[in-house]
Amino acid sequence: MISTRTIESIRADFPLLQRTQGKNPYIYFDNAATTQKPRSVLDAARVYYETLNSNVHRGVHMLSQQATDAFEESRRVIQRFIHAKEDREVIFTKGTTNGINIVAHGFSRAILKPGDEVLISGMEHHSNIVPWQMACEYTGAVLKVIPLNDRGEIIYEEFLKLLTPRVKILAVVQVSNALGTVNPVKEMIADAHRLGIPVLVDGAQSTQHLRVDVQDLDADFFVFSGHKVFAATGFGILYGRAEWLDKLPPYEGGGEMIKEVTFEKTTYNELPFKFEAGTPHIEGALSLAEAIRYIEGLGIDFIAARETELLSYATESLAQIPEVIPVGTAAHKASVLSFNIRNAHHLDVGTLLDKQGIAVRTGHHCAQPLMQRFGIPGTVRASFAFYNTTAEIDAFHQALVRSIGMLV
Ligand code: PLP
Repeated sequence: MISTRTIESIRADFPLLQRTQGKNPYIYFDNAATTQKPRSVLDAARVYYETLNSNVHRGVHMLSQQATDAFEESRRVIQRFIHAKEDREVIFTKGTTNGINIVAHGFSRAILKPGDEVLISGMEHHSNIVPWQMACEYTGAVLKVIPLNDRGEIIYEEFLKLLTPRVKILAVVQVSNALGTVNPVKEMIADAHRLGIPVLVDGAQSTQHLRVDVQDLDADFFVFSGHKVFAATGFGILYGRAEWLDKLPPYEGGGEMIKEVTFEKTTYNELPFKFEAGTPHIEGALSLAEAIRYIEGLGIDFIAARETELLSYATESLAQIPEVIPVGTAAHKASVLSFNIRNAHHLDVGTLLDKQGIAVRTGHHCAQPLMQRFGIPGTVRASFAFYNTTAEIDAFHQALVRSIGMLV
């Protein structure tokens, strides 16, 4: 479905986009860090507290049952959104980082042995590096890294060479937060599966931009964060193929994740509850379900097409500025424009843009090894969502030219 709504009416759904700085509308180009929330998502959390607030799964009373129904309906909405086969394969987490830690912890307890390998790519976010380093440290496994070319793409032949029977898991980002590169994860999964290697996909930057179908990808694990998909912070999803989730031990112990507890022994609950110890982020789940309804109302194809248009408009706009050095020029990109300014520090550029009412991110974007690969301390990153406009990109261009005038 393609939305026929005007961009003005879509922007009106987002209270924060109505903010101004001085006389000018505030320009928010930090969507890869977190996205703004439509009113329907904000209302979902408020309505939950006003009408349903009670703890889920445990109560016999009406409120608890209604809250549980709404909570579990959210799981089914999310299941349909990523096209998981079963709702028990959708685990509620605190976010992408938490999801990866659950899997890495499980692998370190149940799968990895000394000499085994964990394969990641050279463009991973720290949250898809450090949990695996920790897993390797505990088990004696070795972390291997797929190298990148100068455009910021995986060198596929090198990936194939690194794919050996020693690899016990491949963990790879679908869309790079620092470069915008869209990786060929479906192809990578097919190649990994030929050797029986399971694959975790870091979808922190993909579900908000592209249609994700975990069964079509054939992913074994897929993780993402609600706050990057127009929903609340502190909530996210770990999708796992049931056979794999059954094999892994729980990450945290406590209420909800048990079947029976004695002082001698505890038996664990079935999926998804085995991985959901403690009172969950109930309004987080409701808010993500509402955000998905919002995305589906616009149409993910509309969103993808609009963002492609914004990214190519912005790429062409910055190409007119001779001092701009793009970082990450992959053939297939989504929504992120990273760059440096010749003879200027990224932090100074970001600060001057901020003074002109434009929010961009500066720094290493939690991808220090990637910055080392490019021999730079960081970049300026503008990242777009469907609610951004070409007029905003024009204002950004002008503000950048003014900043460069002050700096170089
Ligand atoms: N992976 C990628 C590619 C990201 O962009 C991010 C956040 O920026 C994360 C993982 C971590 O997400 P969170 O902080 O929501 O857990």
